Amino acid sequence: MAILIKNGILITLGERAQVLENGALLIEGEKIKEFGPTNKVRKPAGAEEIDASGKVIMPGLICAHHHLYSAFARGMKPPREPAKDFKEILEKIWWRLDGELTAEDIYYSSLVSLIECVKKGTTTVFDHHESQAYQLGSLDEIQRATEEVGVRTCLCLGASDRYGRGHQGVEENKRFLKKLGKERGLVSGMVGLHASFTVGDETLDRSVEVAQKYDCGIHLHIAEDRIDEDDSLRKYGLRVVERLAKHSALGEKSIAVHCVNIDEREQDILMETGTNVVNNPESNMNNAVGCADVLGMIGKRILVGLGTDGMSADMLSQMRVAYMIYRHSAGDPRVGFSEAGEMLFKNNPEITKRITGWKVGRIEQGWLADIILIDYSPPTPLHPQNLLGHLAFGMVNSSVDTTICNGKILMRNKRLVGMDEERITQKSKELSRKLWERLSC
Ligand SMILES: [Zn+2]
Repeated sequence: MAILIKNGILITLGERAQVLENGALLIEGEKIKEFGPTNKVRKPAGAEEIDASGKVIMPGLICAHHHLYSAFARGMKPPREPAKDFKEILEKIWWRLDGELTAEDIYYSSLVSLIECVKKGTTTVFDHHESQAYQLGSLDEIQRATEEVGVRTCLCLGASDRYGRGHQGVEENKRFLKKLGKERGLVSGMVGLHASFTVGDETLDRSVEVAQKYDCGIHLHIAEDRIDEDDSLRKYGLRVVERLAKHSALGEKSIAVHCVNIDEREQDILMETGTNVVNNPESNMNNAVGCADVLGMIGKRILVGLGTDGMSADMLSQMRVAYMIYRHSAGDPRVGFSEAGEMLFKNNPEITKRITGWKVGRIEQGWLADIILIDYSPPTPLHPQNLLGHLAFGMVNSSVDTTICNGKILMRNKRLVGMDEERITQKSKELSRKLWERLSC
């Protein structure tokens, strides 16, 4: 099917970002066929037409680290004794929650989170799933939700020995990657590990073996809190990144999430191995674990992307928070802004291409047609040089009107297409209430 979008302010992003005042875009099948001034892009016979007057036409956004299952934690009663540190946050909240998830919980929490992605214009998601009691088959549930909603996901299960079932987690990653094979459609896969401090050498080595067999990388949390480094030094006499390098877990297809407490030597190893880093500033602030040396890592030419760690699906707001915390931590109002923009609009697409092969995040002929329309009439001049200012202070507060992924319209005029949102919301309420009852909260 062909779709012509016209009369909007078209922002291409990419290395030579263009802003077309009255732009049009033609989608044919799954790809971008052409773009240009509205009067130059011809409408093929039978093509659907979308009038983007008063809107910006731009590429769909990418979240490089999410936990879709976290949807069911919203509004959950906090522990009686508040968690006093990161370890207690995991023990009292997240590990209790993921220990009770059923197949249906996984499916519906994924649906809810992915619908939010559509509403916020996030069309590619790297999910890191955990569900101790339901591991085997869990990734199928998220795949089913992905295909129903219609965005792209790259899935993995964070295997962990903390509950004595690390082997099962590795098995699930392996099973799922084997099932995906080479034909990946909207869903791709990685090998997930929770974090160094909950993963023994055997689970680590088996995961690396699976990743090598299926030519993919490892997606894991690194040094989110100091306990990860302390644990690695105590058990192995190595810092976390050194340990992972020793076991060949790093590389251009791997994602090192957080990296808040790594040192200079570890940064160098990430750079030498070409490992992708993904920072999640809202989550790091929420857990009071500190701010990663993102500017230092970018200075070393490490590819640092941006995720939400389950906090939201809103990547523009995450970018705004990112620049503020980097700037605040550096105590220098000259830094952080362009770097945060680079992370979202340049590095996330590059990480996606490296890991999944998907060419997304840019309006260019032949690239995948993941496109969003945002309500926005700029009150000041808008051009490629000040685009980031409009995104961080204007569009961040605007509504996404239309979301298209893989050439398919998922939301139009702010209404989801072909999805019964009310039914999904009702079912989600019912399941989360039951989950909370099982957790006695
Ligand atoms: Zn995470």
